[in-house]
Amino acid sequence: MLQKLIAGNWKMNGSLAANQALLADLLAGLAAQAPACQVAVAVPAPYLAQVQQLTAGSAIALGAQDVSQHASGAFTGEISAQMLNDFGVRYALVGHSERRQYHGETDAIVAAKAQAALAAGITPIVCLGETLAQREAGETEAVVQRQLAAVLDVVGQDVTRLVVAYEPVWAIGTGKTATPEQAQAVHAALRAQLVQANGAAAQVPLLYGGSMNAANAAQLLAQPDIDGGLIGGAALKAADFLHIIAAA
Ligand code: PGA
Repeated sequence: MLQKLIAGNWKMNGSLAANQALLADLLAGLAAQAPACQVAVAVPAPYLAQVQQLTAGSAIALGAQDVSQHASGAFTGEISAQMLNDFGVRYALVGHSERRQYHGETDAIVAAKAQAALAAGITPIVCLGETLAQREAGETEAVVQRQLAAVLDVVGQDVTRLVVAYEPVWAIGTGKTATPEQAQAVHAALRAQLVQANGAAAQVPLLYGGSMNAANAAQLLAQPDIDGGLIGGAALKAADFLHIIAAA
């Protein structure tokens, strides 16, 4: 079986002092529990150097929350995959719904970002998910499969190097979690699409995200096609994040 991946998405939270305290608690907890899963934290860009230093040699892999689709040049405010590489970044979120919603990221831009990450040896965590209106209209599978198809078209054989995160928009930060059955159904559809694109893509980890917490993680992670979690709010509290890690 695949080793599960539990990734924290800190979003625009933290400070030098808060990060240090959170990581100290996480590292102490991980040392005590010897996790069976992989662990990562996707941190705000200004803190990459700090978190790289504090997690060096530990079980926590470093992630970024976004990456530019461009390699270098006149793109003020953007951060390239090679720059992330300088800080030992292993994972980059691409296409988080907050980026799609507030920063105009289209399927094509998300695909280009995934490709840029791959080109630099960074694993993109491609985020997909439907809005509440889309779910209520019965469009969930069509929406996430369209979002994934855009990435598959661009990355070709590199599909095996992706991580995919299903995050229903209505579940993010709302306290409303998809039921294990709802999440499993979408994951199974995504798995089928990946396998159709490339038989070897059956191994692509499929994470669930959207109000995953200490209380619901075990049930979600027990589903056959849920290979891990992308955790926002609960990743900011060491005890909660450690509990989710233990459930994996
Ligand atoms: P949440 O966020 O766990 O706070 O719902 C998940 C995410 O947006 O990645």
